[in-house]
Amino acid sequence: PELQMAMESECTIRVDTSVRIRPLLKAELNEKTCLDVADDSTVQVNSKSFRVTKVFDDSSTQEDVFSWSKYIVQDFVKEKKQGIVLAYGQTGTGKTYTLGTDPQISEKGLIRLAIDELFNLIKEPKNPHPTVKVAFLDIYLEEVRDLLATGNSCRVRESESKVFHVEGLKEIEVFQARDAVELLYKGCRQRSFRATNKNAASSRSHAIFTLIMENPNGERIQLWFVDLAGSEDVGRSEVSSCSKQWKEGVKINNSLSTLRRVIHALHHKSHIPYRDSILTKILYGSLKHSCNIQLIASVSPCSSSVTETLSTLHFAIEMK
Ligand code: ADP
Ligand code: MG
Repeated sequence: PELQMAMESECTIRVDTSVRIRPLLKAELNEKTCLDVADDSTVQVNSKSFRVTKVFDDSSTQEDVFSWSKYIVQDFVKEKKQGIVLAYGQTGTGKTYTLGTDPQISEKGLIRLAIDELFNLIKEPKNPHPTVKVAFLDIYLEEVRDLLATGNSCRVRESESKVFHVEGLKEIEVFQARDAVELLYKGCRQRSFRATNKNAASSRSHAIFTLIMENPNGERIQLWFVDLAGSEDVGRSEVSSCSKQWKEGVKINNSLSTLRRVIHALHHKSHIPYRDSILTKILYGSLKHSCNIQLIASVSPCSSSVTETLSTLHFAIEMK
């Protein structure tokens, strides 16, 4: 335990938060807006200011967002530092768009740009070649489903060394960017297929795409991209308290607030409640090492979404 404590105290966690404002959609062009960008790192809603690390306004491109996230991939390859990129926000604000997990949109999102960067970096001949693998899962009602396998759900087990792992989760080796992208889209299709079959919209589950790097010395590190379930509060919409939507909402709210508390605790080196949700158990393997964490909070510019936007901005500022 002493060694473990020593190791944990050495771990350096960097947390950066950003807000991305999506443009008005065609159907919204007559809507009033509620957001002002005061400067590079401040947004205002009804004259209340929220400070984050970086604000992306509605003219920002995927490359703009990636250039902010790029150091995570560079640290992953060069410093062997794990990384977690989280897309958070109300359904319909652009989480999937930003990460690029919609196979119908050809423009490269963050995950594809990161995959390109990763393969560019490991091509440099000075390092011994690592093995790169991909895994892709989602969590629905605290149940883990492997998106690269047609099989059923997977269990999350705790090993004697207090590390959680997803039992039987497929990890597929990739040799070039194109292989990884194919798996990304395969998993996305599996996700939307299951969503319509089980009648659960994909916005009600967390999707986790993982790039795994194994070095010749046996060291294993991971880079995670998490498309979080929509943060909209079901308590605010009127659903019956024994309905499926209500149960979904309770689980989602619990896992999102656990995530926030875990990252806050890591940042402040206090007690870490990672056991309180499957999401944080899965991420814990990385969280207990040195790790770069980025939250991209996506928001709609519309006044009609102001309640959800305020809630998202509070989440972002309370994470640090
Ligand atoms: P979420 O995953 O948060 O539910 P989506 O990514 O599906 O939201 O985005 C909702 C809609 O808004 C989609 O039609 C998407 O193409 C569009 N959209 C989101 N962000 C942007 C953006 N930055 N630029 C252009 N269109 C966007
Ligand atoms: Mg989505």
